[in-house]
Amino acid sequence: MIPRTQATASTVESDLPAWQQSLRNVVSSLEELLELLELSPELLDPRVADCGDFPLRVPREFVARMRPRDPRDPLLQQVLPTAAEFEVRPGYREQPLEEELFAPRPGLIQKYRGRVLVVTAGSCAINCRYCFRRNFPYASQHPWAGEATAVVDSIAADPSIREVILSGGDPLVASDRKLAGLVDRLSEIEHLDTLRIHTRLPVVLPSRVDQRLLQWLGHTRLATVVVLHANHPQEIDGEVGRAVSRLRGTGVTVLNQSVLLAGVNDRAADLITLSRSLFAVGVLPYYLHLLDRVQGAAHFEVATSVALRLVEEMRQELPGYLVPRLVREVPGAPSKVPVTARSGL
Ligand code: SF4
Repeated sequence: MIPRTQATASTVESDLPAWQQSLRNVVSSLEELLELLELSPELLDPRVADCGDFPLRVPREFVARMRPRDPRDPLLQQVLPTAAEFEVRPGYREQPLEEELFAPRPGLIQKYRGRVLVVTAGSCAINCRYCFRRNFPYASQHPWAGEATAVVDSIAADPSIREVILSGGDPLVASDRKLAGLVDRLSEIEHLDTLRIHTRLPVVLPSRVDQRLLQWLGHTRLATVVVLHANHPQEIDGEVGRAVSRLRGTGVTVLNQSVLLAGVNDRAADLITLSRSLFAVGVLPYYLHLLDRVQGAAHFEVATSVALRLVEEMRQELPGYLVPRLVREVPGAPSKVPVTARSGL
């Protein structure tokens, strides 16, 4: 007979949606990650044993898309802590986008006219080593910390806002009950017409796109845009394609944004294949971001001149709708800033 405590725990576990069980079971041990990929533990620098508040975190579904025995795998490069993170570089900051200056109240960031960003969750399924929010004070900055009503009231009081962006962390790590409740309240605000969701979950954990998610997503009156985050064609497999297909079945528009990353996707051939792979599953490439200069991520930076050349090579191979816009975020700018040979960014 199974002991009572064990039976109770497994019952609760099996009641959880599959994606939440996967979230509880992410790879968080460096040694285990290397073992799964048949890589030598000698690859680890002793300094990365402690990554503080931003530890290794990667879903097993994403690990399964990495190439075994390849320490340069582009998916592994995005998640593996390295000693390079400890180099302090001038020009790189803890909070590169100064978002706290644009937070009228906890949980709300308003950088651009007509749009407002709600920090809907304080964590992600995956910890990307280049993340510009790796030092963001989530403990005090997301609305489930008692501020949800104030956030909705604040949006309702400003008729200039038309679009609400759910961001994080990753908003889709929040439960469907919380998300459906928030979206219901937002949809009652007459001056809102668009809901945007910035998420990497359908890419790194496609099982997140389940019936409970589709239920509330398909029933809001708000026009809905889901902006995915994939950086390399190896991230797009059949499961991701099916997740996108389920999303699109609810009538949402699906776009993708990428970050240009040294050692990950800084070859034109990979960027071209990424655009084609996205389009093949019904996703349009939207933005290609230059790296936000967060301390610890300098080794991912690609020079602007190289970025411009890569986009030009994409333009020569692809139709215009498959060439993402090259942009950089500049604190205080009224929108993302297009990067061109003339912009000097
Ligand atoms: S999913 Fe996005 S927000 Fe989360 S760690 Fe990666 S880049 Fe940062």
